[in-house]
Amino acid sequence: MRRELVTRLFREKFGGAPELWARAPGRVDLMGSHTDYNLGFVLTLPISRETWVAARARDDGQVRMFAANLDSEDCFDLTSIQRRACWGDYVRGVAWALAAEGLPLRGFDAVIHSTVPTGSGLSSSAALECSIAVVFRALGGWEMGGARMARLCLRAENEFIGLNCGILDQFSSCLGRAGCALLLDCRDLSTRAVHVAEAIRVVICDTKSPRELAGGEYGVRRAQCEEGAAILGVAALRDATAAELEARAAELPPEVLKRCRFIIGENERVLAMTEALAAGDRGRVGRLCSESFAGARDLYEICSPSMIAMMDAMTRAPGSIGARQAGAGFGGCMVAFVEAGEMDAFSAAVSERYRMSTGVQPEVYPVEPAAGAGLMDVA
Ligand code: ADP
Ligand code: MG
Repeated sequence: MRRELVTRLFREKFGGAPELWARAPGRVDLMGSHTDYNLGFVLTLPISRETWVAARARDDGQVRMFAANLDSEDCFDLTSIQRRACWGDYVRGVAWALAAEGLPLRGFDAVIHSTVPTGSGLSSSAALECSIAVVFRALGGWEMGGARMARLCLRAENEFIGLNCGILDQFSSCLGRAGCALLLDCRDLSTRAVHVAEAIRVVICDTKSPRELAGGEYGVRRAQCEEGAAILGVAALRDATAAELEARAAELPPEVLKRCRFIIGENERVLAMTEALAAGDRGRVGRLCSESFAGARDLYEICSPSMIAMMDAMTRAPGSIGARQAGAGFGGCMVAFVEAGEMDAFSAAVSERYRMSTGVQPEVYPVEPAAGAGLMDVA
């Protein structure tokens, strides 16, 4: 279905057929909110919501692209890459970051189609960047590993788009392995594949409330974490323990202390969650999720009223093992761990309760672990 749609759009926009297909997944954090820029751990799941790019090389150095989800066209010349303050800048940024490495780039025609919701915390921007990087790599005829590709896509987002996000999104999208979650160490950028017990399913619960405060508040949180680390005399909050923090609590401004308590606790929860999910220890998964959400609400203060309503709906629904925030918070998507046999009952109950309390129809859907960005085999 999706393949036919993209093929038809390609024919309509550019004539003929695409010669290669790239894909890159979105992601959801199973544990570890805001730990990435504190150089800590994140348990991340590259998900079966993906961005696809169907492309065909051009010989004139132009990149012409159509974003099917937005019904929007954009184009640029590889010899003069300028910001335009629109979605196409994510593609321009990747071209800019790759060119800055001295990699030869070819132009192309492309249709972009995504099932990652935008601006909802599942990282549609990284999925777009990484799928585009795969196209440039394939057409340029050079090799590049996933870790380097992730770093260059992050550079595009940090320096070209101007968003000060951490490495989590691009790493998740580039380094996924089918069937696994990933434990990511954001200091040395090493990853470990993590098995999630068979009968535990991951379900996205989208509050459908926009993340309006996210940009500014995100920067404030980052600055507060840096302030806390500086007072504690560590390079990053990753290096402090809860005992060290409490011993020096009086030296930190109250708000900074709360932020540090959350990050240090959250970082420990990532490792505990990795064990609990692999072992299928439902009680522990549930407790860790509840602690994570309580900290996000009371200490890190990134929970909107819609998230609190969704948390209530998720925890009361049949089959619920655990539930928590996802992404940066401030609305957007949340994540639940659900008994495989109870998926339908869970979705129905969450939708009903959330709609009753907020008047908004949420979107609730399971996701599967997905492989990292790469070419698709379209026979
Ligand atoms: P998130 O990454 O959490 O989804 P961001 O604000 O970081 O949210 O990125 C969303 C932006 O990325 C969109 O506003 C758009 O500019 C761009 N984008 C993402 N996916 C697509 C797509 N499929 N087509 C065009 N632009 C996209
Ligand atoms: Mg993003």
